[in-house]
Amino acid sequence: MTAINYVGVKFGGAVQVFLTFIKIFSVLLVIGVAFLAPSAAHGADPVWPAAVNGGLLTAFLAALAAALWAYDGWEDLNLVGSEVKNPQRNFPLALVGGVGLVAIIYLLFSAACLRVLPFSAAASSEHIASDVVEHASGHGAAIWITLAMVISATGTPETQPAAHNTPTAAAKLKIYISVDMEGIAGVVTSDQLGPTGFEYERFRRFMTNETLAAIQAAKESGATEIVVSDSHGNGQNLLIDLFPKDVRVVRSWPRHGGMMAGLDSTFDAAMYVGYHASTTNPHGVRAHTFSSAHLARVALNGNAVSEGEFNTAYAGFFNVPVIFASGDDAAMAELKSRLPILETAETKKSLGFHSAETLTPEASCEKISIAAKAAISHLHEAKPYLVKPPITLEITFKNYTPAEALSYLHSIQRVDSHTIRFIAKDMPEAQDFIDFLDLYNPDMTP
Ligand SMILES: [Zn+2]
Repeated sequence: MTAINYVGVKFGGAVQVFLTFIKIFSVLLVIGVAFLAPSAAHGADPVWPAAVNGGLLTAFLAALAAALWAYDGWEDLNLVGSEVKNPQRNFPLALVGGVGLVAIIYLLFSAACLRVLPFSAAASSEHIASDVVEHASGHGAAIWITLAMVISATGTPETQPAAHNTPTAAAKLKIYISVDMEGIAGVVTSDQLGPTGFEYERFRRFMTNETLAAIQAAKESGATEIVVSDSHGNGQNLLIDLFPKDVRVVRSWPRHGGMMAGLDSTFDAAMYVGYHASTTNPHGVRAHTFSSAHLARVALNGNAVSEGEFNTAYAGFFNVPVIFASGDDAAMAELKSRLPILETAETKKSLGFHSAETLTPEASCEKISIAAKAAISHLHEAKPYLVKPPITLEITFKNYTPAEALSYLHSIQRVDSHTIRFIAKDMPEAQDFIDFLDLYNPDMTP
């Protein structure tokens, strides 16, 4: 069955439906044979043995325990959930209908067996179906039934859900990881954040290690392809020689897609490492949105957003859910207020714009690993975050003249002294607009 699932879940499903049909057909055949056969000479053997130690209830529970023990399929329900169309309607139908049908067939089968075989023979039989048929119709029929049972047993439903979200199956799991630096454990000032800072080289390593923790967690959870984007400062912070060789790294600017460059609809999920709070948040280490030097507010359809929320809306355009983020407490609280299903790893508590009570780099990596794994294990619950197009993008500058200059473009409205408004048809266009603002400078060379 695993080999058949490898070919594809649809094909595996079809094979399983066929095998299940053979199974039910065989069981119904045994029931039919048993009821059509002349009633056994032993007559009406009592269905319930005369002596049961501990009474009826004990015997019933003993029989039930064996049946429940044998079937652990319930725990596969959440895996199956992601394969089923309209699970809210179809799951209850399948559970009630399926269990009911199996119960009816099981009772009929038991009655058929007891009609043909004496109770003692039924109790000691190792292959009750073939014994019943042999008793009623002879040896040839018994062989046929045994064969049918063997074929159908290979199609038990437990082998089916392995085709999704588990590393053993051939399923692809493509993960995008966007990495910023302000939310990395220990980062508090510009001394850690750029090439002129005295601690930058060490903190590049810590940033790389937190990214590696997320990569490793993704791989251990079955990720088959990982793209990482270096999305801080010059976009050249991550030490790429420390990465596993099957990971690809997006570096430097400008690039379409900004902090999510390279993301498209082939990805299954996205994650954030080292993210920070927005420029409108009064808390959070180095809180800003896209440009700490130039922007005082960025809003989508009237809501002020963080980089994390903006990027999540961008991923939503490609139908990709964001499932995990790490950063300081203010950044995580801000993201979770908009994306309740997100798994987060808090790397530090912000005590101010330039101060924090932080985890050590090692403790932070451990926390990221645990939360990233939890995120992938709930991947089937994650939903893309959709901002309704057309997108009204509002940008408030820290200075007066950028807003005045942009108002000369007729596609742009000036909302107030420091704020402009641009209507984008979708998130990629909004992203390009932000990137243009960040990029453009009349003195650009080469
Ligand atoms: Zn940032």
